[in-house]
Amino acid sequence: MSEMSSKPLNGMSDIGSPEVGLWQHLEAEARKVFKAFCFDELRTPVMERTELFVRSLGDATDVVQKEMYTLERSRYSATLRPEGTAGVIRHIAGLGQDANGSRVFYIGPMFRAERPQAGRKRQFHQLGAEMIGEAQPAADAECIAMQMALLKRWGMENASVQLNTRGRAEDMRAVADGLRELIKPQLGELCEDCCRRFDTNILRVLDCKQKRCAEIAAALPAMTEFMSEESREYFTAVQRWLDILGVEYTVNPLLVRGLDYYEHTVWEIRHGGLGAQDALSGGGRYRINHGRNDIQGVGFALGLERVVMALKSEGIEAEQFSSKPDIYLVSLGETALQSNAELAMQLRSKGLSCAMDWRARSMKAQMRTANKTGAAHVIIRGDNEVEEQVYQVKDMAEGTQQTVKLEQLLELFLPSTEG
Ligand code: AMP
Repeated sequence: MSEMSSKPLNGMSDIGSPEVGLWQHLEAEARKVFKAFCFDELRTPVMERTELFVRSLGDATDVVQKEMYTLERSRYSATLRPEGTAGVIRHIAGLGQDANGSRVFYIGPMFRAERPQAGRKRQFHQLGAEMIGEAQPAADAECIAMQMALLKRWGMENASVQLNTRGRAEDMRAVADGLRELIKPQLGELCEDCCRRFDTNILRVLDCKQKRCAEIAAALPAMTEFMSEESREYFTAVQRWLDILGVEYTVNPLLVRGLDYYEHTVWEIRHGGLGAQDALSGGGRYRINHGRNDIQGVGFALGLERVVMALKSEGIEAEQFSSKPDIYLVSLGETALQSNAELAMQLRSKGLSCAMDWRARSMKAQMRTANKTGAAHVIIRGDNEVEEQVYQVKDMAEGTQQTVKLEQLLELFLPSTEG
């Protein structure tokens, strides 16, 4: 048998210290922003019926065609969720009540069998939100504004919004036909993927990264040219609302987003520090058919791996969020060790984080470990301190040391509870 690998599967990562501190910080701050915008969390299973994704995302999309992790069992086919919206809509449809006005957010892993590269993983993490309700330009603008508020809260400065419209679903045929007619004479010059997309998913030709496809797309008239007046007016209203909410954006007529369920507004948030995979997040208005219900809403999904990369490129490092003990307890001798163990439990019950060493090592060795943990304070106790019921407290940043009694010790670390 070959040796067991200590690495996770290709395209998947462990997220441990110090990195995980930044992840926790991002999630905690996001929860505050979602609360401010009145969103509730929804946790859906990471696996769903395969059919849910095929029907919601569209069977000609890249995700469904090439990227799903599907598990065939004898009685059903299940797929690891490649995105979060389909599960949220399934849940909302299942509530069987008027869901208009529902606002939910989710945070969790998504899975896509893509070729791994910088910023593209097979298990990645999305933080997303959905606002259920009929098409309203102000709602779309609010959704984008919330995302920008979130990025600002995280301290991100260099993100920019790219905005476009796909028009209402009823316009889709006119848009597709119009584009096909103009692209057809150059069909032979398109890449292999776009030749396939020409029949099945023509909009995706517009955002193909291949050089010749991009040139052909850039020379086309904007999609809005083929849309109804109503769709165009909707898009103008979204822009007006974004201006009112103080959100800067750039209209990008080639932005289409990859999934079939989108209509009207679509957007991406990009960041200069990400390299080739520069999309931090994507979103849009959608209409998803679920059973007898057509559920409409607007939402987005942010890739957390890319958020971490973008923040790093702006100088925000994970180290500053890594958790350090408030107190490290140094015990000199067995009596002090036992007494410190009790003290640690007492301090922890008050919410302070305490670390200590169960081995009665030398003072020097314990101080070295204390230093390594980055503890703000060290409490040093030997037999004498236990007997006299005093505590030597060292402030690691100041380098100062004082001997205190229990009341002073508690006052030092828990001033509010003792006051
Ligand atoms: P999408 O709906 O595919 O545009 O995904 C929304 C966001 O999720 C993207 O803007 C990325 O930040 C993130 N994302 C999507 N796919 C991946 C992936 N394979 N690896 C890492 N992040 C991803």
